[in-house]
Amino acid sequence: MPHSVRILDTEMVTHNVRRFRLERPQGYDFTPGQATEVAIDRDGWREEKRPFTFTGLTDDPQLEFTIKIYPEHEGVTDALGRIAAGEALLIDAPWGTIRYKGPGTFIAGGAGLTPFIAILRDLARRGEIAGNRLVFSNKTEADIIMRETWEAMDGLDTLFVVTDEPESPLSGGPVDRDFLERHVADFGQRFYVCGPDKMVADITSALKALGADPDGLVFEE
Ligand SMILES: Cc1cc2nc3c(=O)[nH]c(=O)nc-3n(C[C@H](O)[C@H](O)[C@H](O)COP(=O)(O)OP(=O)(O)OC[C@H]3O[C@@H](n4cnc5c(N)ncnc54)[C@H](O)[C@@H]3O)c2cc1C
Repeated sequence: MPHSVRILDTEMVTHNVRRFRLERPQGYDFTPGQATEVAIDRDGWREEKRPFTFTGLTDDPQLEFTIKIYPEHEGVTDALGRIAAGEALLIDAPWGTIRYKGPGTFIAGGAGLTPFIAILRDLARRGEIAGNRLVFSNKTEADIIMRETWEAMDGLDTLFVVTDEPESPLSGGPVDRDFLERHVADFGQRFYVCGPDKMVADITSALKALGADPDGLVFEE
């Protein structure tokens, strides 16, 4: 049974990524990294379900989503880009295979960061962030979600790369086999990968080719 949860407030995190704070149904629990099916609780929209990841802390009194808006799809995220606080969303049970299994390198592309937002925040809150690294690829610097948060996280090693802004000091990538060989010293560690499907497929196969243990690779299956 889906829960209808009211939107409490929203804010823009980048030019096209919007954060939503929502009511939390009593007893509704999730593990950092998990997602759920979300629909807008409005006539004509209730069957239009899309997956989004919880980005808040597990014991926050509210739920949080961080959602990239695609106006050109004329779909759910377009509508979420214009929805106001006070309206409601329908959320199903949490699901997903991305979860923290120990220190490693988190490799994210764009809005693929969202499961790592929840995981890294949770680790920081528990004082267990040290030994983890975030490699975050975007088209431009303006697309980087929560850059200041990651840079301020004591113990988290960060590497930001932008692929479509040659004048940026972060210009580099794409994150492919050559990039990984240049920027990763130890392929015996754990890797967490999330982003566009092709990016995840390319990076996981490059990591395996470079000697990473397939059992040490965490991605959405
Ligand atoms: C497990 C999981 C968790 C996710 N968590 C998040 C999250 O926390 N935050 C987040 O921002 N996203 C997340 N996503 C992605 C998110 O679900 C999609 O961005 C969303 O479903 C798009 O919905 P839409 O109705 O706007 O677009 P849809 O109309 O559903 O379009 C879906 C896909 O169709 C293609 N497409 C459709 N129209 C166009 C077009 N005009 N031009 C180019 N391509 C097009 C694109 O590939 C697009 O991704 C997650 C996805 C998964 C699988």
